[in-house]
Amino acid sequence: MSARELWRLPARALATAVRAGECTALEAVSAGWDGPAALWERDVHAIAHSDPGARAAGAGAAPSGPLAGVPVVVKDNLCTHDHPTTCCSRMLDGYQPPYDATVVQRLREAGGVVSGKGNMDEFAMGSSTEFSCYGPTRNPYDLARVPGGSSGGPAAAVAYGLAPLALGSDTGGSVRQPAAFCGVVGLKPTYGRLSRYGLVAFASSLDQVGIFGRHAGDVALLYALLAGPDPLDATSRASLPPDVSGWDGGVEGLRFGWPANLWREGVEAEVVAGLEEAAAWLERAGARRVPFDFLPGEYAVATYYLVATAEASSNLARFDGVRYGHRDPAGHDLHALYTRSRSAGFGAEVQRRILLGTYALSAGYYEEVYLTAQRARARIRREYEAAFSRCDLLLMPAAPTLPFRLGEKLDDPLAMYLSDIFTLGANLAGIPGLSAPVTPAAGGLPRAVQLLGPDDGEALLLRAARALEVRGERARLDRSHEVEFAWPTKR
Ligand code: GLN
Repeated sequence: MSARELWRLPARALATAVRAGECTALEAVSAGWDGPAALWERDVHAIAHSDPGARAAGAGAAPSGPLAGVPVVVKDNLCTHDHPTTCCSRMLDGYQPPYDATVVQRLREAGGVVSGKGNMDEFAMGSSTEFSCYGPTRNPYDLARVPGGSSGGPAAAVAYGLAPLALGSDTGGSVRQPAAFCGVVGLKPTYGRLSRYGLVAFASSLDQVGIFGRHAGDVALLYALLAGPDPLDATSRASLPPDVSGWDGGVEGLRFGWPANLWREGVEAEVVAGLEEAAAWLERAGARRVPFDFLPGEYAVATYYLVATAEASSNLARFDGVRYGHRDPAGHDLHALYTRSRSAGFGAEVQRRILLGTYALSAGYYEEVYLTAQRARARIRREYEAAFSRCDLLLMPAAPTLPFRLGEKLDDPLAMYLSDIFTLGANLAGIPGLSAPVTPAAGGLPRAVQLLGPDDGEALLLRAARALEVRGERARLDRSHEVEFAWPTKR
């Protein structure tokens, strides 16, 4: 099979072709890099580090397994022994770990091959991938717009067809929001379901590895292969993960919450129209809409930015030029060495987070600021639990806007932080969430909805995502004058 035939196959079909001997694992892995997608990377810049030699070696070791020869883009904060892992920060530039993250190891054991390291906001702090020390990633649907963040590279790579699957991390929305902006499926699992061993920590109580794919079925497969206890991660759940093999089981009888108060103001009309479309599709597939008011959004942003920055200031303390990270020469003056190394190694947004977090944790403010945030967090979790006593899933926006323009929010940190208003609640509560594309907005920009579920609700989320995908495929057939909506068009 030629690169053109292999390119854009679902991961499951690609692995089947490799196992049947219709193509080699190397041809499968190279289909993105050498095929029709090759030109996209120059404009989009989804990949921070790639190594054809490591790809070939990985493909040589991957002729069998459920992911035989399937290329997977891995966010640059997940350790890979054969590619650099830098969190797109000068602090870690040139670092190549001696080991694989557990999720990367499991991916390889299943036959998957690391296709490249996905570009990201430095240390996963951001919502647009503009804070990468290697320069921004652009949205493949409109190069003047951002792909979302912080996992913008992995999301964009899956969207334009470099690989059918990617791994990211989601601390406050960094898988779901870029998936929404790039028109792909993005799953943030229940906290503790995917091992964090080998994920460079940002805010440990919120961080979860997440999965990008073009198809719900591919995401379900990768989840099934990666999820499960890991003795190397003390926060991984000891019980068996939810069984997602029923991802194509439909949504008959499912009750989805419809908290319309959340988008009464401050949400773009195109986003609201996408929600209406998804709700109608789910209803036609046999699900039931349960309208009610839902409030955690009101203080989730403040709570998140206290908890996340506090944990980040503590996690990033190790990058001091002595124990880890970039070292600036400063003679024998230890204080100057720390100051210069951290000032040169960290970008402005990371420094801002460290300062905010250090403030929240400092004596005298700890009770007032950090403990209050912890109490608010417990309350947010209870509010989600109460919501899930009335419905099986919540349907809501993934982000308040469609993809915004590069530079639009760079000078206004608060505006950037508000991009996550609908996603960060799931991290505070520890529950799973997914964003799924619906039909594009007028003008062709991707548009998506978010689904949230109770602990271990991954199977329900995937079933709903699949139901939307099936409706979407039908809708696309009805609109046959459009060539193929999944194919990004350059502007
Ligand atoms: N945009 C959010 C932040 O900057 C979330 C980032 C993430 O999920 N890693 O903190």
